[in-house]
Amino acid sequence: MLAPLADVQARPLRDLRISVIDRCNFRCSYCMPKNATHRNGNFLSRGSLLSNREIERLASAFVGLGVSKIRLTGGEPLLRPGLTHLIERLASVSGVQDLALITNGILLPQMAQDLANAGLGRITLSLDSLDEKVFAAITGYRGTVARVLEGIEAAKQAGFRQLKINTVVQKGVNDHTVLDMVRYFRGSGHTLRLIEFMDVGNSNQWSFDHVVPGSKWLQRIHTRWPLRPLASQYPGETARRYAFVDGAGEIGLINSITEPFCGQCSRARVTAEGKYYTCLFSDQGVDLRPLLASEHDRSALQERIRSCWSRRADSYSLDRDSSGHTTPKVEMYRLGG
Ligand code: SF4
Repeated sequence: MLAPLADVQARPLRDLRISVIDRCNFRCSYCMPKNATHRNGNFLSRGSLLSNREIERLASAFVGLGVSKIRLTGGEPLLRPGLTHLIERLASVSGVQDLALITNGILLPQMAQDLANAGLGRITLSLDSLDEKVFAAITGYRGTVARVLEGIEAAKQAGFRQLKINTVVQKGVNDHTVLDMVRYFRGSGHTLRLIEFMDVGNSNQWSFDHVVPGSKWLQRIHTRWPLRPLASQYPGETARRYAFVDGAGEIGLINSITEPFCGQCSRARVTAEGKYYTCLFSDQGVDLRPLLASEHDRSALQERIRSCWSRRADSYSLDRDSSGHTTPKVEMYRLGG
């Protein structure tokens, strides 16, 4: 086993996020706004997606370098052809302690049981409002809250008892419906996490004025339902966790803008066509695909991963220029959140 891999800030490589497809059946305003450049022509063809075998090789190589958590992202990962076979393969990679997937939930009613049978460990679900009109406006008028709630129920029936529910809060868009979500998910067994609106990609018109600081939500929620802080479950955890004093579960705040967590960031990302990035806000990726063609390339592949990570110095959120000046970045739907 090679020495634990750390970057120039001594941050270990522990988490791998794999985007398994860049296509999505939603057009969320903070990720893939309807009016932005992407059109069907811009999405990767099926042939350009990494095959299940290539993703298995990739995952196994990263696990051999210290990764223990793998999260499948997208676009919308449930749109990937052959997804359950991929999950079966990844679930059998020794050393994977946590195999999770993030989804918008709209396809869960018909897929939740298959995902569970394939060996998926956890589901994180994106849901930005319970208000159908607000939801429609955010997702580009695609899907309904009712269908997503059906998906949550199907996941529960399939054995995914504790979902993480991610809500990206945008001032003037859905912030007026957040407390309804807190009320709805309290005592449900699922954990609602409020995410500060981020300047991901290049087309979501981000500005600091549209951010509601997590600390504001802490105050507002604590006033209604007293909270007490909880310790992180593992180093590099992005959410600040709070328990409801009355025992109705917990809530998380992901404050990437106002309380950046780059100092403990242990996340690597690989796109659906095999490009490796060391930060969500990167503009430079390394093509690993040529090294995924055969098992014989494993040590060359690991050397490429190692040399990139050991030179890593990313801390975009800490250095973010709050004036909104941005450099061209990879779109989030290509990189996965
Ligand atoms: S901005 Fe980059 S380095 Fe900082 S936490 Fe996010 S992914 Fe990690």
